[in-house]
Amino acid sequence: PFDVLIVGGGPAGAAASIYAARKGIATGIVAERFGGQVMDTMAIENFISVKETEGPKLVAALEEHVKQYEVDVMNLQRAESLKPAANPGGYAEVTLTNGAVLKGRTVILATGARWRELGVPGEQEYRGRGVAYCPHCDGPLFKGKHVAVIGGGNSGVEAAIDLAGIVGKVTLLEFADTLRADAVLQAKLRSLPNVTIVTNAQTTEVTGDGQRVNGLVYTDRASGESHTVALEGVFVQIGLLPNTDWLKGTIELSRFGEIVVDAKGQTSAPGIFAAGDCTTVPYKQIIIAMGEGSKAALSAFDHLIRSTPE
Ligand code: FAD
Repeated sequence: PFDVLIVGGGPAGAAASIYAARKGIATGIVAERFGGQVMDTMAIENFISVKETEGPKLVAALEEHVKQYEVDVMNLQRAESLKPAANPGGYAEVTLTNGAVLKGRTVILATGARWRELGVPGEQEYRGRGVAYCPHCDGPLFKGKHVAVIGGGNSGVEAAIDLAGIVGKVTLLEFADTLRADAVLQAKLRSLPNVTIVTNAQTTEVTGDGQRVNGLVYTDRASGESHTVALEGVFVQIGLLPNTDWLKGTIELSRFGEIVVDAKGQTSAPGIFAAGDCTTVPYKQIIIAMGEGSKAALSAFDHLIRSTPE
């Protein structure tokens, strides 16, 4: 049994494990894929104090740092259910898909999230080569260029406003006949000279020259006509899906499926903490996930010293 059992081996889970192990308590991590989303990331330019790195390189450094401590890393294992402790000081149980049951006096949930994808030809092929999901991460790579933002909800409109200050031109494409973002954001967007808004637009393909994105094809849902736009980048902003389906009914989730946490990373169940992209904490970024993971580990430790083991 563990004092702290962490589910998820991305930046949040890895940071939590180091902070927990440094307290000299029995720490374990279960991860479907150690490294998480960072494994899929090319250039990282906003991990403060490191001017530039690549995802797999950062993951290797994370792994090396975790290995400095007595952390039991159970990689390539998927958790499928959680049972919080019946009494304070008792053990919570995490069941894996292979049938194993792991016990922890505290549990830190750090299962991350994934971007909802368009599912059109060219999206996978040009991912990281013009197709992007995070304006904070990749916006500056498109300085002065023409990019599309797909999605007219709050995140799409925020992304378009953000990008309009960096890139040359932004075309925002919305599937429905109106934008769904808050009125104040829409007013701001419409005031920008280098933004074009297209509604009723169903994106059907991302095109490229074999190396990088060079355009996008959409169908005008009103007329049925197909249009091609020449551009250098496509930001997909149609939703972020937290990996929390397996927790439904066990702990409180927001309407977006995010784990509801307080300022200490505490969830609705005593002894169960959460950190990173799977939580209600805004701005999904590596450095934020690491800070939140560290915080959750300190909160778990605080919980341990205040409860008597059963
Ligand atoms: P994740 O990295 O998603 O890790 C989740 C972990 O949980 C993984 O180990 C996963 O395998 C595991 N897991 C999930 N479900 C289960 C389960 N049921 N059982 C066991 N394990 C499970 N951020 C930046 O700051 N800068 C960037 O430049 C940047 N670029 C990005 C580019 C791309 C293409 C993407 C996709 C994201 C980018 N991000 C960037 C965002 C950043 O990667 C995330 O904010 C960060 O990885 C979140 O960390 P996390 O630990 O919360 O979750």
